[in-house]
Amino acid sequence: MNFRQAYWDEPLLMEKRSAPDTDVDLADLVPAKIRRQQLAIPNLSEHDVVRHFTRLSQMNFGIDTGFYPLGSCTMKFNPKFTEELAALPTVTRIHPDQDESTVQGALRLLYELQGLLATIAGMDAVTLQPAAGAQGEYTGLLLAQAYHRERGEERHQVIIPDTAHGTNPASAGMLGFDLIEIPSKDGRVDLKALEAAAGPKTLALMLTNPNTLGIFEEHVLDIAQIVHDAGGLLYYDGANFNAILGRTSPGKMNFDIVHFNLHKTFTTPHGGGGPGAGPVGVRKPLEPFLPVPVIGLNGRGYHLNYDRPRSIGKVRAWYGNFALLVRAYAYILRMGGDGLKEVSDRAVLNANYVRHRLAGVLDVPFGGLRKHEFVASAAKLAAERGIRTVDLAKRLMDFGYHPPTVYFPHLVEEALMVEPTETETKETLDGFVDALAKIVKEDPETLHSAPHNTAVARVDEVQAAREPVLSWRTAKARKPPS
Ligand SMILES: *Cc1c(COP(=O)(O)O)cnc(C)c1O
Repeated sequence: MNFRQAYWDEPLLMEKRSAPDTDVDLADLVPAKIRRQQLAIPNLSEHDVVRHFTRLSQMNFGIDTGFYPLGSCTMKFNPKFTEELAALPTVTRIHPDQDESTVQGALRLLYELQGLLATIAGMDAVTLQPAAGAQGEYTGLLLAQAYHRERGEERHQVIIPDTAHGTNPASAGMLGFDLIEIPSKDGRVDLKALEAAAGPKTLALMLTNPNTLGIFEEHVLDIAQIVHDAGGLLYYDGANFNAILGRTSPGKMNFDIVHFNLHKTFTTPHGGGGPGAGPVGVRKPLEPFLPVPVIGLNGRGYHLNYDRPRSIGKVRAWYGNFALLVRAYAYILRMGGDGLKEVSDRAVLNANYVRHRLAGVLDVPFGGLRKHEFVASAAKLAAERGIRTVDLAKRLMDFGYHPPTVYFPHLVEEALMVEPTETETKETLDGFVDALAKIVKEDPETLHSAPHNTAVARVDEVQAAREPVLSWRTAKARKPPS
């Protein structure tokens, strides 16, 4: 018997080469009523599959296909070099349970990113754990509560201006705090209303600056003084960081707690419910309460520090959305301090350019310069010709533009909130304004039934939100349109 024959005939070797039979009875595990009886997988060639997905991707709308002026969301271009770095095996093939000594590079990246973000925000310490801005808000309010409790104070009122993003009241509400909404005056916080609201029960004021109207709260130091005098803390909603990068910081504005939306300001991808990253920065007195673990550095190298008795605990599994943190880190290093300042300079310039040109097409309430975004209104158009903001938004898609944010903030009627971001050219911005100028002159009927050139016509958004239907169609031969 030669070796070859022995190899193939050897039953033991053959057995090793095949997967072992399962010794679990599936009938015990999966109830009969949800067990699939048959599986109809379409029998397709590779090129049919490639064409199918290519076609699907062309039906979609994203940053890589066109202008995406979705206000408050900072839908800026995600540079491809950060995608390449985030796809490296040293990023994708490590496990959060690995021994610290084997992931020193990853820990160093997290440690340095904590420091970079703290510097950018003018804060003393940062946690990278929260998975989104909203979770950052939740974490930040927990930190504020822990801070007050340690001083023997039970404070449960959170003050929120009427320009705030919906996540602010939602986060405070989830924690069972009482919300006190204060009105704005000419698009800014009304100081008198704030003075009346602040008191011994004030846990914190949550403020976005510039606010969601794109207006800078120039009295921010007075606002801080009022809240601090009442013993409360100042929470900075950092979603609009793109407007102030390198120019000023929440620290300089006397805030105590800040969240970042790395998926907005620092170019990591977002949208469609994808992964986010909402690190939180704090001043020194709040640092002991940060979630565990904090990434530390000592004589042995970088490590995960769980030895923090005053911590609020964990707010998320592991250490944050690592691949997003890698992208943000790479972006910050590539841009440098001067580069980041140029980002906010251009973002503000672009927003004011579009605002200025659009003022001849739609109403743009509130005077003066804006920061990175502005809000226009179709209220007059609605009253005079029955053309509403939703019609403009839908029709813009026919022209290849993603709609701006609509009907937010609520204090502007028929609102369209436009944020061009720094990465767009003058030609793109002009094209967008020209499209809107054309659209407002169109026949209202054309607009009410728009969009006309997209893969999906106008949907009933209320029904879609209330009754999401996920359907799976069996493969049928596609018939050419007759
Ligand atoms: C996007 C946004 C948030 C919430 O951030 P997420 O990362 O989406 O959870 C909060 N405030 C403002 C002003 C925002 O634009």
